[in-house]
Amino acid sequence: MSAPSESALPSSPRSRRSAAIDEALRAIGSRELEGKGAEAVLRWGIDRFHPRLTLSASFGAPEGMVLLDMMHRIEPESRVFVLDTGRLPQAVYDLIDRVRDRYDKSIEVVFPRGDDVQQMVREKGMNLFYESLENRRLCCRIRKVEPLRRHLVDFDAYVTGLRREQSATRSDTPVIQMDEANGGIVKLNPIADSSQDEVWQYVRRHAVPVNRLHAQGYPSVGCEPCTRAVASGDDPRSGRWWWEQDDTRECGLHVDEEEQGSGI
Ligand code: SF4
Repeated sequence: MSAPSESALPSSPRSRRSAAIDEALRAIGSRELEGKGAEAVLRWGIDRFHPRLTLSASFGAPEGMVLLDMMHRIEPESRVFVLDTGRLPQAVYDLIDRVRDRYDKSIEVVFPRGDDVQQMVREKGMNLFYESLENRRLCCRIRKVEPLRRHLVDFDAYVTGLRREQSATRSDTPVIQMDEANGGIVKLNPIADSSQDEVWQYVRRHAVPVNRLHAQGYPSVGCEPCTRAVASGDDPRSGRWWWEQDDTRECGLHVDEEEQGSGI
């Protein structure tokens, strides 16, 4: 019996993966996904990358919950993870369990390395982040940036809830990009061009579960010691690391290391 021709062989997971990455690079170059709408972008990503596509959700912002709902409707086995820094408020854990029950979905909870956290608090104290920008970035690096990087090793693409109007550092966020800091994987930001009103309209229309602290003046909920409520009309990001200057308020998850200047 003669060997099957190469074109008759089923493509291997590796070749399918590299074909999908090539398509992503083409989409970045042509900007063909800009303006398509969040659901179309998610469908594009799921068709090419599932199950090596995951959603990064903080369970502290409505954006992540909207994307989780959209992805679940398209692909019930779609994947989602949350970084548990060890300093999150109870409201985040309660929401994780609510979402788990509502969607019958397993949530991948990613923890920092215990040894790193132990060494950090032994040397610098439990609340080091209030003492200097360097300390705050060290804490974010150990509790968020490293776990994110470690978790994403198993994926070819991930989804975020970044929106351009959230802050000056996010104003150029494209709908699709390569994330070199996290292993050169594809990063989809399907609601980059959505407004806050559009996000909340989706939440109400589909009764999407959201963090209960939003109703108490928290536009987004991060670690408990680094988040506070904001007054109506104030910059939504002003409740995060409020003791710092405006231009340093990022945790490093979505900022280039050099741009952040943290030496991470
Ligand atoms: S947000 Fe605060 S507690 Fe959380 S990782 Fe960053 S510095 Fe540490």
